[in-house]
Amino acid sequence: MRKIFQSPKGMHDILPKEQVWWQKIREVIDEAAQAYNFSRIDVPILEETALFERGIGQNTDVVEKEMFSLCTKGGDNLSLRPEATAGVCRAYLEHSMRQQRQPVKLYYFGPMFRYEQPQAGRLRQFWQYGLEAIGDLAPVLDAQVCQIFFSILNKLKIKKGINIQINSLGCRQCRPEYKKSLLAYLRVQQAGLCGQCKTRLRRNPLRVLDCKEEKCQRLAKGAPQIIDQLCVSCHNHFKNVLEFLDELKLPYILNTHLVRGLDYYTKTVFEFVPEGKQGSQAALGGGGRYDELVWMLGGKQTPAVGWAAGAERLIDYLKERKIDLGAISRPQVFLAQLGDLGKKKSLVLFEELEKNNLQVAESFSKDSIKAQMKIADQLGAPFALILGQKEALEDMIIIRDMTTGVQDMVKLEKVVDEIKKRLKKIRQ
Ligand code: AMP
Repeated sequence: MRKIFQSPKGMHDILPKEQVWWQKIREVIDEAAQAYNFSRIDVPILEETALFERGIGQNTDVVEKEMFSLCTKGGDNLSLRPEATAGVCRAYLEHSMRQQRQPVKLYYFGPMFRYEQPQAGRLRQFWQYGLEAIGDLAPVLDAQVCQIFFSILNKLKIKKGINIQINSLGCRQCRPEYKKSLLAYLRVQQAGLCGQCKTRLRRNPLRVLDCKEEKCQRLAKGAPQIIDQLCVSCHNHFKNVLEFLDELKLPYILNTHLVRGLDYYTKTVFEFVPEGKQGSQAALGGGGRYDELVWMLGGKQTPAVGWAAGAERLIDYLKERKIDLGAISRPQVFLAQLGDLGKKKSLVLFEELEKNNLQVAESFSKDSIKAQMKIADQLGAPFALILGQKEALEDMIIIRDMTTGVQDMVKLEKVVDEIKKRLKKIRQ
């Protein structure tokens, strides 16, 4: 038996009928990011494995369990990027962007890879769009990056229904103290934790706070909260961020259990979560401040803030909410042809129509007019042009109004103007 291939587990084709959604969100992301002076950056899909180990953290789920890693023939250890922030910071350092005016504002859109158990909203290859403001610690930037996410939603006609869940994770000064008091609390309760959280106690105790197991969640409720133990600088920073969000009227909810999965976060962390849904699994995006990352990658101390969001989750959300983007593009005219000469002249006419920015559909490989009219109908073109053998000989063409079925004969050289005139009329 010959094997029938399928796409790898958790990885999907984006079929032509889906592309309208992708095109639309790409346009909107470009528009919003550029309006706020973020410039596009594309970093490689493969990076040195050590970049992610050092940047994201060796004890994180992403690095420990979820990387697609390989060794090249030349002996380099590379990994498919599980996220883009580490790569963007590597590029910031490699291209001496510190010499530029700070913050350097960058955005990206591209595929990421995580070896996860595929399920709804969790893929092994997924697309993230995201932005980073690198080189400034002003709290206004934390609010501004959130504002851009809402600007994207707004352009996609999503006016409400998504909240920012927000927390602060403190910094090098205050987090170790907090960790101590959290550990002291959790050690006493250890017997009640799930198996994974027992390991987390040793390696990454903050992650116990966002464990999905009910018994851990119950224990987490009574745990000390980091916002009560922030140092003055982190406290003021967080207070300022919340004030800016208030000013922008962005909907936020304090979530003291939000810790995020990656080690590089400091101070503000947030997720964009649809109302009525819980946890990172449902988040449309998430991010925060990572004031240590550039330093961890060998650069100078460089504060930064950003977020990343999943394109598939956004598209699923738009579909679920039945949001009509008006993105389904219909041809303005269908060009039907009959006979050798009709086909030849149609090829040239198609180019002429296209040069005049008209959206034209055709089915040149079909020879029956009936079949071609059926396609024109299915595509919803308001007009069809029919160029048969007789018309081609006389340099004429038939215009058929697809709604009324009325047909008129016009001179071939006049058809572009005539179609434009008729399209204008139906737009009025
Ligand atoms: P993270 O980098 O884990 O904070 O993810 C940021 C956003 O990317 C999430 O809120 C999701 O929208 C999206 N995302 C993360 N992991 C996946 C995945 N495995 N499949 C689909 N989308 C994902």
